[in-house]
Amino acid sequence: SDTQKAAFGIIGMGVMGKSLALNLSGKGISVAVYNRTVPGVEEQVAERFAEENAEQPLLPFSDAEAFVQALEKPRRILFMVKAGAAVDALLQQFQPLLEAEDVILDGGNSHYHDTQRRVQEMQALHLHFLGVGISGGEEGALKGPSLMPGGPKEGYTQVSEILEQIAAKDKDGLPCCAYVGPAGAGHFVKMVHNGIEYAEMQALAEVYQLLRFHLNFSPETIVEELQSWQESGLGSYLLEITIDILKKQEAGGLLLDKILDAAEQKGTGGWSTTAALELGASVDPIAAAVMARYLSAQKKQREKAAALVEIEPMQIEGVPLLHAQQLKKGYEAVRVVNHAIGFELMRQASEQYEWGLNLSEIARIWTNGCIIRSQLMERLVGILKTEVPLLQHDEVVSQMKELLNSWKEIVASGLKANAALPVFSAGLNYYLGYVTAQSPANLIQAQRDYFGAHTFRRVDQPLDKYFHVEW
Ligand code: NAP
Repeated sequence: SDTQKAAFGIIGMGVMGKSLALNLSGKGISVAVYNRTVPGVEEQVAERFAEENAEQPLLPFSDAEAFVQALEKPRRILFMVKAGAAVDALLQQFQPLLEAEDVILDGGNSHYHDTQRRVQEMQALHLHFLGVGISGGEEGALKGPSLMPGGPKEGYTQVSEILEQIAAKDKDGLPCCAYVGPAGAGHFVKMVHNGIEYAEMQALAEVYQLLRFHLNFSPETIVEELQSWQESGLGSYLLEITIDILKKQEAGGLLLDKILDAAEQKGTGGWSTTAALELGASVDPIAAAVMARYLSAQKKQREKAAALVEIEPMQIEGVPLLHAQQLKKGYEAVRVVNHAIGFELMRQASEQYEWGLNLSEIARIWTNGCIIRSQLMERLVGILKTEVPLLQHDEVVSQMKELLNSWKEIVASGLKANAALPVFSAGLNYYLGYVTAQSPANLIQAQRDYFGAHTFRRVDQPLDKYFHVEW
């Protein structure tokens, strides 16, 4: 009977699939696992788990049909495989084995357009397809990730209890999992999470670069400095791991110094930028962080150009400790902007796609389990409840007023000292543009009308009227 069957199925025993299977099992949920090619991989996971907890074993399957038969109805199957063609191939393979009302969850980093399409394709077959953004890496998957499920609500109802059980918990003990919105919304939100993550990582890289090479701090002093930031309101998971990285020694030196400075990526930061272009949103620091990774990957070109132009990192003049104070304030400011543009991107998508995203709730499920969890995120939960754009909220306005001068000073000093600061400066440009009531875009409109008769609106006429002149 169904009672002996597994409550949940997982396909894909990669890093994430394995860890999630162990997480579920550890919560007393019976799990069947299946992996496409590698023979015996399910059994290995099952054995590893059995060593720790023999009461609730994982059920390993190498045969797709037997795997499906082993699941309670409605079946709940999580795909934890490489995003892209693999997901469509699995749907092709499994859809004939499934029945109406079964729920398929895609926990990979799928593109939200793909998820929108798949939800429709599966709906036609009376199957519920959910796109579930998952953040937290291997450790999060194992101990409690942040989960961003989106798709048909009826499907979510079938899995909400299990997802909430395995998710990380926020400071009030609530699960870092909430129904985000209809088809594609979950993967969109995960994509923006990763976009913010890119900008936050690059901002930290710039902080490190300035402290070490332009303010002459030793790695030990940088660790001390950043530890004091971590303890004074700027605390975050990414800052914490950065401090750890700056402590890691190998053969009497920093391991960091042995790592090639060519950043790689799997695409989600770039997708955020593309989505912003599609929606007409400005995401300057996120885009800058993506481009900075591309430029870093051009190591050979950079070495050649460096030799030609003979530009060296210069010391920033003045008192290093004072500059470090400015840097701390600049870092605080750029993070606020990184988050503001990420949430603004979601607000615009929500409007365009009619998703009804709850931004405060999204911030809440990002307060634990995920890579961008931070004290700032905790603060944003409350601030975003007001529905005032983040950068116009009273508290944020006064915070930014307090930080702006230091931010400008450190960007200016850093650029003068030959430090490329893509995120610090893109964020600052965005912010200054955002707080400029009269921009020079009137000149752009005039130029467009001049060469292309594209017309313009006038400030002294009703705004629904367009004008053209013979220049
Ligand atoms: P991965 O390398 O992305 O995926 C490995 C799994 O995908 C393996 O089980 C592999 O099966 C399976 N697979 C690949 N191609 C397949 C195909 N054509 N048909 C069926 N299965 C196929 O490993 P991962 O790091 O565990 O990531 C899984 C998903 O989670 C990805 O979408 C990733 O972007 C996302 N994600 C990862 C993290 C992270 O920190 N790693 C965090 C959040 C989300 P075989 O063993 O048979 O090759």
